[in-house]
Amino acid sequence: MENTLKTWFLSFLHLFFSRQCAVCGTPLQEGEEAICLKCNMNLPRTDYHLRTDNPVERMFWGKLPLERATSYFFYHKGSDFRRILHQLKYGGRKDLGETMGRFMAAELTVSGFFHSVDVIVPIPLHPRKQRMRGYNQSECIAKGVAAVTGISLDAASVMRRKHTETQTSKSAYERWENVDGIFHLRHPERFVGKHILLVDDVLTTGATTTACADVFRDVEGVRISVLTLAVANF
Ligand SMILES: [Zn+2]
Repeated sequence: MENTLKTWFLSFLHLFFSRQCAVCGTPLQEGEEAICLKCNMNLPRTDYHLRTDNPVERMFWGKLPLERATSYFFYHKGSDFRRILHQLKYGGRKDLGETMGRFMAAELTVSGFFHSVDVIVPIPLHPRKQRMRGYNQSECIAKGVAAVTGISLDAASVMRRKHTETQTSKSAYERWENVDGIFHLRHPERFVGKHILLVDDVLTTGATTTACADVFRDVEGVRISVLTLAVANF
């Protein structure tokens, strides 16, 4: 009984909040999705996809066989737009990921950002986190991108390992940056000669993305592009 009530209450909350702008909280009008028109217009877009050698691409120079990289919008501490990421990650709002993923893809597709991409791979979440959250927010964004572009999505070939003994014995800071070897690739043969688009929710240091791209190191002819919903202001 208690569980039924909880489920009912959560779905009620979800229904209620999904009809409010995720940024400013005003009720959404007919035709508006996830965020209101005003917040959509004010979204701090990077427009990095219009610039080659943009700051996001530079983060990956020399670290992976980079084709293109961009992030959709800037976020910083205290920004109202950070609420999108917060609700997507902690508020159970996986619908926000798909919707924002669709918005982002629709805008980027015009510039040819997805040209020659063969497969979309979301950055996997730590298995324990995914169990607790019930979903991987990067996969939700990737689904939205796949829906708009028609490019296939592979959320099963790259796996994230559980923390190892050696990692837990390190300091918190070392652990933060120690992402080498946390990803593992199944079916490397599927990726031979492919242009892979790695998708994540936010980009900060780029360490996680680089570690994830590293699983394709020994796969012949792989090219990699990177797309994230948001990037920390820098
Ligand atoms: Zn709004």
